[in-house]
Amino acid sequence: MAVDRPRQIRIVIVGAGFGGIGMGASLKRRGCDNFIILEKSDSVGGVWHKNRYPGAACDVPAHLYSFSFELRPDWPQRYASQAEILDYLNHCARTYGLAPHIRFGTEVTDARWDETHNRWVVRTADDQLFHAQALVTATGQLSRPSHPRLPCATRFSGPIFHSAEWRDCDLHGKSVAVVGTGASATQLVPAIAPIVSKLYVFQRSAAYILPKRDKIYPRWQIRLFRHCRGALRLRRMLIYLQHEHRAFAFVTWRAVLRTKRRAFTRHLRRGVKQADLRDRLTPDYRMGCKRILLSNDFYPAMDRANVELVTERIEEIRPGAIVTGDAAERKVDCIIFATGFAATDFLVPMKMTGLRGQDLHQSWKGGAEAYLGMTVAGFPNFFMLYGPNTNLAHNSIVFMIESQIRHVMACLARLGGDGARSIEVKENIQRRFNARIRRRLENSIWSKGCMSWYLTAAGKNTTNWPGYSFMFRLKTRTPNWDDYVVQ
Ligand SMILES: Cc1cc2nc3c(=O)[nH]c(=O)nc-3n(C[C@H](O)[C@H](O)[C@H](O)COP(=O)(O)OP(=O)(O)OC[C@H]3O[C@@H](n4cnc5c(N)ncnc54)[C@H](O)[C@@H]3O)c2cc1C
Repeated sequence: MAVDRPRQIRIVIVGAGFGGIGMGASLKRRGCDNFIILEKSDSVGGVWHKNRYPGAACDVPAHLYSFSFELRPDWPQRYASQAEILDYLNHCARTYGLAPHIRFGTEVTDARWDETHNRWVVRTADDQLFHAQALVTATGQLSRPSHPRLPCATRFSGPIFHSAEWRDCDLHGKSVAVVGTGASATQLVPAIAPIVSKLYVFQRSAAYILPKRDKIYPRWQIRLFRHCRGALRLRRMLIYLQHEHRAFAFVTWRAVLRTKRRAFTRHLRRGVKQADLRDRLTPDYRMGCKRILLSNDFYPAMDRANVELVTERIEEIRPGAIVTGDAAERKVDCIIFATGFAATDFLVPMKMTGLRGQDLHQSWKGGAEAYLGMTVAGFPNFFMLYGPNTNLAHNSIVFMIESQIRHVMACLARLGGDGARSIEVKENIQRRFNARIRRRLENSIWSKGCMSWYLTAAGKNTTNWPGYSFMFRLKTRTPNWDDYVVQ
C-alpha cells in the first residue's frame, strides 16, 4: 500500500534473517522501539526460510549458531536442521516483541542520503517512503540464488528450480537431475536419492567433504543446560574454541590441512566402493580453497546404483532431457539447481546513493569493500551486517553478525545521545583497512588455485574475513571515534 507522506522513523533495518532479527532484538533490549524491519519475503528467517530443500541443515553446532543473548538449552542434537533454526528465529522474534516492527512483502529498492536533513530516504517497491536517521542493511551474502545460464532451460517441460526456491513437487519414482555438488547438493542428494528412480548429479568441480560429527543430546545433558546456564555457556565456548582452532590451518599454518586431507581420503574410501567414482569425486585443487563440507551420507548416496555422477558439461536442456558435451541425452522429469548464490553482489539490486550523489555500486565497480564490513565513506549513518569480508570458512556467521551489532549499537547510541547528527567512516581509514586485509587475502588459501563463491569474476575476495573471528570481535568491540567523522 502506497503512503501519501513519508513515515518518520529513527532506524530502518532491511532484512529479517539472523542479522535483522538480532539487530531488532538488541534495540528492544536497550528499550528502543523506534525502528522498522523491512523484509521482502513473507516470513522471518532469511536463508533459513528460503532454503527448505530436503536435508537442509547447518554445518555449525546449534549451541554456537544462535545468539549469545538467547541461548537455547534444548537443541535436540549437535547440528540443527533448517526447520529447527527457522523455529528458533521465530522464537527470537516473538520473545523480543518484533512482530509489530516487521513489514513483510516489502522490498527496499533504493535509499538516498538527504544531506540537508541528515537522514536516509528509503523507498520500497510498492512506493512506501521512510525518512530515517540510520539505515542498517541485513540482506545477507547468500540471499540471492545464482541461476546457471543454460541454453534452452526455458524449454524444459517439467519442474525446474533452484534449491533455495524449493517447490513442493513429488519426486517419488521420478528421474531427477541435481546440478552442482556444493554445500546444498551434499545435503539434498542423500535426502532424495532413496526416493527417486534415477538421480543424475552434474558436477563441475568436486568438493572436499569430511565426516559430520553429529550427536543427539541425552536427556540429562539437556536438563543440565536448562538448569545451569554456566554449563550451557561453557558448552558454547568449547564449541567456539574447537571451531576457531581450524582458522589456524587457513590463516597461520597450512600444513595442518594435510591431516585434514588424509581424513578426507579415508572418508571418501569408506563411503564410495567404486574406485573410478572415487577418482571423479576427488577435487583437483588445494584443500581449503573452497569451503570444506561436512556430510556422512553424501558419498554412500553417490555410490548407490540409481545415482550417476556426470562430469561432462551441460550443452542443452531439451523439454524432457539434458544433453551433455559428449552428445549423451539423459531423460529427466525434474531439474534442481544447487548452484549457490550471487555472494559477491552485495546489496544488489538496491540503489544506494550517498553524499554528493555518490552511487555505492559505482564505487564498488572493482568489488565491494567497507570498513569492518559495516561502514562506507560517503555513506553516513549507514551500517551493513554481514557485509564485505565478514564471511568465515571455519566458524559461525552469527558470531560475526553479533560482533557487528554491538558496534552498530554503540554508533546508534552516539547518534541518539550526545546530539551527533551523522557518523561516517573516514576515507583513509577505510582505504588502509582494506589494503591490509587485501594483502592478507592475496596470500590466503582462497585466492589461488580455484574459483569459488568467495571471489568476484575478476578474482577479488570480497566475502571472507582473512583471520581469526576473535580478532574481528576485538576490532569491532567499541568504535574508535578517531576512525569516524562525527558531526
Ligand atoms: C543453505 C545455507 C546454509 C548455510 N549454512 C551455514 C552454516 O552452516 N554456518 C554458518 O555460519 N552460516 C551458514 N550459512 C550462511 C548464512 O547466510 C548466515 O549464517 C546467516 O543466516 C546470514 O543471515 P543474514 O540475516 O545476514 O542474511 P539472510 O539470512 O540472507 O537474510 C537476509 C534477508 O534480507 C532480505 N532482503 C534482501 N534484500 C532485501 C531488500 N532489498 N528489501 C527487503 N528485504 C531484503 C531477504 O529476503 C532475507 O530474508 C548458510 C547459508 C545457506 C544459504
